[in-house]
Amino acid sequence: MSRFATLEPQPKDPIFALVDLYQKDENPNKINISVGAYRDENGKPYVLPVVKKAKQILLNDPNANHEYNPMTGVDSFCHNAAKVILGKDSPAIAEERVATIQTVAGTGALKIACEFLKQTKNTPIYISNPTWANHKAIIENTDLEWKEYSYWNQENRNLNIEGLLEDLNNAPDNSTILLHACAHNPTGTDPTREQWKRICEVIKKKNHFTFFDCAYQGFASGDLDNDAWAIRYFIEQGLELIVCQSFSKNMGLYSERAGYIHIVIKPSENASVIAKNVRSHLGGITRAILSNAPNFAVRVVDIILSDPELYKEWNENMKVMSGRIQKMRKMARDKFVELKTPGTWDHIQQQIGMFSYTGLTVKQVECLIEKFSIYMTKNGRMSVAGLNEKNVEYFVKSVDWVVR
Ligand code: PLP
Repeated sequence: MSRFATLEPQPKDPIFALVDLYQKDENPNKINISVGAYRDENGKPYVLPVVKKAKQILLNDPNANHEYNPMTGVDSFCHNAAKVILGKDSPAIAEERVATIQTVAGTGALKIACEFLKQTKNTPIYISNPTWANHKAIIENTDLEWKEYSYWNQENRNLNIEGLLEDLNNAPDNSTILLHACAHNPTGTDPTREQWKRICEVIKKKNHFTFFDCAYQGFASGDLDNDAWAIRYFIEQGLELIVCQSFSKNMGLYSERAGYIHIVIKPSENASVIAKNVRSHLGGITRAILSNAPNFAVRVVDIILSDPELYKEWNENMKVMSGRIQKMRKMARDKFVELKTPGTWDHIQQQIGMFSYTGLTVKQVECLIEKFSIYMTKNGRMSVAGLNEKNVEYFVKSVDWVVR
């Protein structure tokens, strides 16, 4: 008898389970709006044209090899990635108080960051209610505790800013607060700049520690700088923080796993020494978990980041993606209005990034799946990238049927 015979199967990941069902579904009108991956106007996966070029350059590079990386990753790659998120003129970078390492995309960054927090701080991590489901799993898997702060106002379908501030105020001093830097998953609703300032004020007053997850830079507004505004503002305010950065979405490198952690140390005389020690500590954690992070995707990323022409083209590619999503939001919202679908639908257009929190109930979503082959998560979140000009009308008419 195997020593593993008593193991029960793990519950299926709800999103990957939906993808399975979608693939088996023979309805020609089926729509997959469950998974957070960009689709082009024909509903197909999209390889960014700039990524195709960068891969060709890498392929032709006679010096490219497969040697091991340092545990912390390649220094120049780390530096270029930090500039994308912290800004090329960031004083934190100039003052060498940023500890950056390469990771296995955003999820790998979150895991290493949690390990680091476990070893250095070991207090509960406050996450938004709701949040990306894997946040809880990663935190639990690191033997840390999570607690929730209010985020969503279901009635008004917008941010519950007063509840959020109250919860941060009531958390014990020096708590860790996990914030989505932009394009909040699943609600598609970010704080305004004024609201970010209020959040920052409470965090400062309570001496909380900020932990930014940035998986969608460029997807919220189509502009990298704009989407990193909150992070840069917090740093400007002198805060010490972690940023987990993913290139999965904004370069469409989902399966290739490119990402970084940046830990920004607050200004002081010995901040750069502290940053060096933090980086070496992060490298030590990486060594014990995966030895060193994979290199193919970050090489592609770095080719794009280090060439001004390719960098410009990347920004244009990102505008194509975020622009198409915004167009789908508007088309869906306009169609709901035209059909006089019960309820308000402006939020579909107002929300930003990849997702929309539709407000549909579990029962309504189940009906969409069973009757119309429209696959979305039970919490009513849809990946707007799954809509296109050919299926948006079918989607809206189906929702209209379901809510009546
Ligand atoms: N954080 C959030 C909020 C996400 O939605 C995702 C992916 O869906 C990630 C992190 C991690 O992305 P990846 O590990 O693919 O880079």
